Amino acid sequence: MTTKQTRLAQSGLFPTGKVSVTNPPAFVTTTVVFPNADVLPTVTRESLVRSSGGLYENFYYGGVDTPNTVALARMIAEIEGSSSAVLTPSGQAAIVATASALLRPGDHVTVVDTVTYTTRWYFERLRNSGIFVDYYPPDANESISDYFRDNTRLVFMESPGSFTFEVQDVPAICREAAGRGVTTVLDNTWSASMLFDPFQHGVDVSIISLTKYHAAVAGVSLGAVVLGDPELHERIKTEVAILGMHVSPDVCARASVVLPTLSLRISHQEKAIQNVLARIQSRHDIKRLYHPSLGTCVGHAIWRRDFRGANSLFSMQIEPNDSKRMRAFVNAFKTIKIGYGWGGPTSLATAFQANEWRTASYTDANGLCLRIYVGCEDPGDVADDIEQALDASAPWSNHRQAGEDVVVREQ
Ligand SMILES: *Cc1c(COP(=O)(O)O)cnc(C)c1O
Repeated sequence: MTTKQTRLAQSGLFPTGKVSVTNPPAFVTTTVVFPNADVLPTVTRESLVRSSGGLYENFYYGGVDTPNTVALARMIAEIEGSSSAVLTPSGQAAIVATASALLRPGDHVTVVDTVTYTTRWYFERLRNSGIFVDYYPPDANESISDYFRDNTRLVFMESPGSFTFEVQDVPAICREAAGRGVTTVLDNTWSASMLFDPFQHGVDVSIISLTKYHAAVAGVSLGAVVLGDPELHERIKTEVAILGMHVSPDVCARASVVLPTLSLRISHQEKAIQNVLARIQSRHDIKRLYHPSLGTCVGHAIWRRDFRGANSLFSMQIEPNDSKRMRAFVNAFKTIKIGYGWGGPTSLATAFQANEWRTASYTDANGLCLRIYVGCEDPGDVADDIEQALDASAPWSNHRQAGEDVVVREQ
């Protein structure tokens, strides 16, 4: 059995007749023409979910599947360590499709307090559909059963959590949920299918935003719902087709071109962030760093137990911690760019307000923090940039020329 890195490197191989090509061509079409009426597949609910034995197995209407979607879904399933995956137009759509397939009015879902804000906004909205939604703290383990009710159908995890990276005890939560017949859903985007094996830890449904590490370097938006169980696969695949969440074959082909370098990118970026953290962690003007590899991170011991490594996102709280200083700090970056999202080639800084959305638990990072995504640049340049921006924005800075003030705008 070859490693993930080898399988990924060859994941673009695509048979065309007797030969193969190393990158799949995009089958940009919605219409499939059949040689005669006898081989035209009858479209039934079952035909949407037929297990795919060959690349063309589900190729009868381009909206539902194309050779590109089938090949990409199969590769995502394989690197997640499961039997099947259903692609969606975004990570957000993967969450929506999962909830729509698995929750009915009157059901209860409990969601980790540290989910990314867009996930939270969606769950807030679900309350309008008669679904009961509440939040549990990220350090819940066996104690998750305290948050289960008679009507609990689903427990939603995101580990590590967004922005402050609390690592959840996924196996403990899954054990408790299995005993109660509660379906376990994990947003596994952080691990990029490389750092954590959801199905070996008891997860029923793994959700990924492929828009991040998998395919941000291609600039595409895509998501996946990854399943270990054929019955769950059938429900999700049907839901995605019925909701009209079709994905473009062109976009899938672009993702298939960058997927073979995923493992390389992650291993470069893992080393890069260790480099950056080592350079800045003793600075007096950084109050706190957030990254699962640091002993101060909530769930650090669980990360060591369950994960193979860490990605290249970290957050920091600086001192003094006010919005003027933060604005000056961020505006002083030269190499690091300012923006949302992550997983692409470019290092990015995103300011956030810790505890802004949380209701079940709070971090000690009060106030403004900064998340930094370390991209594919030289890590020395990224660390230099953080240091020079801290120096340039410090109120006591003597790096500034006399008479030259940092330009800050009031919020
Ligand atoms: C970005 C992100 C999402 C949403 O993904 P999109 O593809 O942007 O819709 C969901 N979960 C996590 C953890 C994310 O980082």
